[in-house]
Amino acid sequence: MCEELVSAPLPFWADHLLLPRYWSRAGWWFDKDALVFAMKLLDIRLGLRLRYSGGRRGVAHTSGSHRIGRKIAGRDWHRITINQDLSLEEANHTLWHELAHCSQSERWSRETGDPIFLFYRLAYRDGVSYRMKSWETHAEMIANVHGPNYSLLVVKDD
Ligand SMILES: [Zn+2]
Repeated sequence: MCEELVSAPLPFWADHLLLPRYWSRAGWWFDKDALVFAMKLLDIRLGLRLRYSGGRRGVAHTSGSHRIGRKIAGRDWHRITINQDLSLEEANHTLWHELAHCSQSERWSRETGDPIFLFYRLAYRDGVSYRMKSWETHAEMIANVHGPNYSLLVVKDD
């Protein structure tokens, strides 16, 4: 029956992960299976687009960032940037930290009923610094707990 074929779900990653196609300058790339594991662990349901940041020309580079990107195929997507000059360990820690923000923003949206793209505008509102601190503390905790145990990156072996 054709129906079976049509309704067969794509692998989770095919529908949920967009990765850079090349190695980072520091020589690491993303472990797709580990990322899918982490997304399930943190209950991240939206898709995730990963990009490199960092350039030799720039001034102060942040390690990473998370925001809600434009809709792709009618859905909200998380957009994470990771500085591609970070060491393997730093990049992994940063990635876990930003993944925690993905999870937080989805949960915040479900609990408040507000659209997810307003997460940073509302939940991180100026003057509510203790709240901002609690999101960051939580993200650091996630990174500290999982980072040393689960690498989300692979290394070029040449
Ligand atoms: Zn953060």
